[in-house]
Amino acid sequence: MGQETEVAEKEVLQSVSDLPVQDPPGEEFSAADLTWVKYASSEHHRDDVALIPYDRMEAFIGGESNNPECPTRFHIERGRKRERGSLREYRSDEYLLYRMYWCSFGPENYGEGGTILPSRKYRLNTRNRAARPQSMRGCTCHFTVKRLYARPSLLLIIYHERRHVNKSGFICHGPLDRDAIGPGARKMPYIGSEIQQQTMSLIYLGVPEENILQTHIEGIQRYCSADAQVDNLASQYVQKLGMIIKRSTHELDLDDQASIRMWVDRNKKSVFFYQDSTEADAFILGIQTEWQLQQMMRFGHQSLLASHSSFGVSKLKYPLHTLLVFDSRQHALPVAWVITRSVTNKDTLKWMRALTDRIHSIDSTWRIGGFIIDDPASELGPIREVFACPVLFSVWHIRRTWLKNVIKKCSNVEVQREIFIQLGKIIYSIWSEKNPMDALGKLFQDFVDQTTFIKYFKSFWVPKLEMWIDSIRNLPLASQESCGAIEGYHLKLKVKAYDDVQLDALQRVDWLVHKLTTELHSSYWINLFADESGSFPEVKADYIASTSWQRALQIPDAAVTFDDKEPLLARVVSQKDTSQTRTVWNPGSEFSLCDCSWSMQGNLCKHVLKVNMMCGARKDFQPSLSFQSYQHVLLDLWQKPLDDSFSLDLSVAWVMQMQEKIKHVAELATSGGIVQVAGKLPIQWTKKRGRRVAAKRPLLLPHSNGSLQKETTPKKSKKRKRLSRFLG
Ligand SMILES: [Zn+2]
Ligand SMILES: [Zn+2]
Repeated sequence: MGQETEVAEKEVLQSVSDLPVQDPPGEEFSAADLTWVKYASSEHHRDDVALIPYDRMEAFIGGESNNPECPTRFHIERGRKRERGSLREYRSDEYLLYRMYWCSFGPENYGEGGTILPSRKYRLNTRNRAARPQSMRGCTCHFTVKRLYARPSLLLIIYHERRHVNKSGFICHGPLDRDAIGPGARKMPYIGSEIQQQTMSLIYLGVPEENILQTHIEGIQRYCSADAQVDNLASQYVQKLGMIIKRSTHELDLDDQASIRMWVDRNKKSVFFYQDSTEADAFILGIQTEWQLQQMMRFGHQSLLASHSSFGVSKLKYPLHTLLVFDSRQHALPVAWVITRSVTNKDTLKWMRALTDRIHSIDSTWRIGGFIIDDPASELGPIREVFACPVLFSVWHIRRTWLKNVIKKCSNVEVQREIFIQLGKIIYSIWSEKNPMDALGKLFQDFVDQTTFIKYFKSFWVPKLEMWIDSIRNLPLASQESCGAIEGYHLKLKVKAYDDVQLDALQRVDWLVHKLTTELHSSYWINLFADESGSFPEVKADYIASTSWQRALQIPDAAVTFDDKEPLLARVVSQKDTSQTRTVWNPGSEFSLCDCSWSMQGNLCKHVLKVNMMCGARKDFQPSLSFQSYQHVLLDLWQKPLDDSFSLDLSVAWVMQMQEKIKHVAELATSGGIVQVAGKLPIQWTKKRGRRVAAKRPLLLPHSNGSLQKETTPKKSKKRKRLSRFLG
């Protein structure tokens, strides 16, 4: 269009009425067959336009798609319609139908920055790496068509960018783009990254291929019309992707370190921090995909972040730390993985800063309300410095490890129960006047004959018990619901990443990275997608039931009976088979245990949680550990008043705010629904603010048993929608 752009000012048309109608011969025609004229109006600023018969619209779009230099497809990026006769006054370029067509290699760019596009990691073993038309490359080529309101038989084409170039002005696909040369490049239908992710996740889930194909075709038909050839190509694509996934390997190089370097180089967009191991520096790899970044912003803001440590898995070459957020169902969702052996302040600060900098570059107001740790050896300094929030402690790990070892190392069921209850007393005595060490002494005395267990406990736990007790005493404790959620992630991680492998694989970092970023990532992606889009009802149901807390909520109160005789126990009638009953010993404690098989594997089972939910409301049971710790924080504050100064005023103001908040939450929890209490809430600045927060965050809704549960379908704010468009 070099010549046209030099058209003098006087040749710019002001009205469409002066334009000639062009009707090039042939089945299809393209922009090259038309004469383009500059046009300016209140809406258009010297755009290139041409006028053709409305019934030749498809012929033009077809011709443009089959451009030999840049074969592509055009998808509708925006569209609007107007009824005939709906306008009294109109300009000559007013539309009846408006559509903006964008080259399907754009508008988003998933290739920028790195040399490798996100889907390429699954294509490592294929010989033909070139043909990849399904990727978005930031192509800016787009045009608008308007069926004219004044003359419905005519179509005005407005070409905004005719070159297939990215924002930097480089040709970004077609034979002139080296990456897109290949046998299938011209014919392949456009496949957006969401469809690709969905198809991939379904393959990982093991869904039958015909079902995958059906959903895949439904997905791509958003971009192109349905025809036999498209279906055929889609089927080939799904088959190929399945094969690629089956054959894809973690091993990019025989040397693990070199392999990881290659992976990092190819997946720049999913790496937020990387420090290669040298003599001076420790190995650190921080992984976060764009989808994870999006979820961290969404669910982490003004909420909790939890860290899951992989202490137990000593088989791994380097320990894995996972950062979790709690989604709208309070399920733990991994939003970043850090692989490193280094726990020094300096190194931890480096990756934590890199992670938050990444978020703050998008939303500078993002901040969390609290950070839950599960390892008392964690350095608190970096967390407080980077996140500037309170640190909480979760006892899920100590509970699980103790229970597992009691079951493994003692054969008698009664003894298992007694030992576990005594172990609980050690932890519970932290808030009583008693010394935890007395409870420990009693354990050794009473179970002296349980040599295997006592030997294990003395060598493994006694040396670090004080450190654990200190953390539990000094940090506020996380609730059983979050413990259950973190344990839920732990179990999934084990199944998807640690099980079913030979031990030598665990010694390779590239293998772990591969497992995390393919299978585990896909499984979380599809869970959230199914839940929020309403598709895949079975996946959704499995996902909802994936934490013990959610399963416990399904048990009615009537199924639980308490036996007040010593020893204390509760019975839960099975919902599947009413002739079966589970017994929960030591009810009302984090250290209660159940005789179901799930509990006997060391897990926090739904029976224990259900019984404890009911004990919480009863006065004859001691409060839970997390509640006692909360009480301790409040009493501590009360017993040590600050001096009579400005800081006292500020503290009073904060306490008042907190009290108000707790009152509202409690009111919500005990009422029948938000409607009943909304009217009673005072009209003040806090309410206004609450409304704004509620638009961003899911609402708190009461549950029948008095526990809190967030509304299941979070409303997306406009901002978030915009974000997801950019982040894919
Ligand atoms: Zn293009
Ligand atoms: Zn159970």
